[in-house]
Amino acid sequence: MSALRIAGVRKRFGAQEVLKGIDLEVDSGEFLVLVGPSGCGKSTLLNIIAGLEAPGEGTVEIGSRLVNDVEPKDRDIAMVFQSYALYPTMTVRQNITFGMECRNVPKRAQDEAVERVSRLLQIDQLLHRKPSQLSGGQRQRVAMGRALVRDPTLFLFDEPLSNLDAKLRVEMRLEIKQLHRRIGATIVYVTHDQIEAMTMATRIAVMHQGEVQQFADPETIYNRPANLFVARFMGAPP
Ligand code: ADP
Ligand code: MG
Repeated sequence: MSALRIAGVRKRFGAQEVLKGIDLEVDSGEFLVLVGPSGCGKSTLLNIIAGLEAPGEGTVEIGSRLVNDVEPKDRDIAMVFQSYALYPTMTVRQNITFGMECRNVPKRAQDEAVERVSRLLQIDQLLHRKPSQLSGGQRQRVAMGRALVRDPTLFLFDEPLSNLDAKLRVEMRLEIKQLHRRIGATIVYVTHDQIEAMTMATRIAVMHQGEVQQFADPETIYNRPANLFVARFMGAPP
């Protein structure tokens, strides 16, 4: 079953056409990576998938429902951004439970969710700390924890590792991949990093100037790039 269907999506900001007709279909449980150079429209597309931004034309369906027909609070989507934006005065636990408090989730269910997620992400020893007492990687995990307690079927990441140093980035790639296997959610992951795309994706959409240049599995992208842009950008010989 397709978990996400994007059809004919176009978007302009003023005179600039940022998305020029995007069609993508993502299977349930897939790890789709949107990769392309800065400014090619990745974040705009992700925001449209999340329903945070309306498409100029076209549709986004998640599990056969049109995204914009669903109230934001009822959307089964969680998003992790590049800047983690944790609340600095709250503890890790409060950061994780804040969204559930806003939705009036009963206290016991909140505690269970915190326990499950903090064990999964190995932050169960850090629940009483403030964000300023955490390392970059730990903060990143808390941000993921905050998204995970929603138990989303669709998980959106926008360059979540680009503020981390190289070594930690490699570790976190593995962690996110393992997380994907364990929770079985569908993931759409934005990056400008080719290696990240090749190592994490089940399928890759290579974007350039508001268009998808190729949509295929990593091996096909590497061995049979669709055009010169894909060949050069993904680092395969032309
Ligand atoms: P990426 O995430 O691939 O770097 P973006 O989707 O952020 O690209 O941006 C694509 C293009 O759209 C860029 O040229 C950017 O300047 C422009 N853009 C993005 N958001 C806005 C906005 N809210 N208003 C005007 N232009 C925007
Ligand atoms: Mg971006």
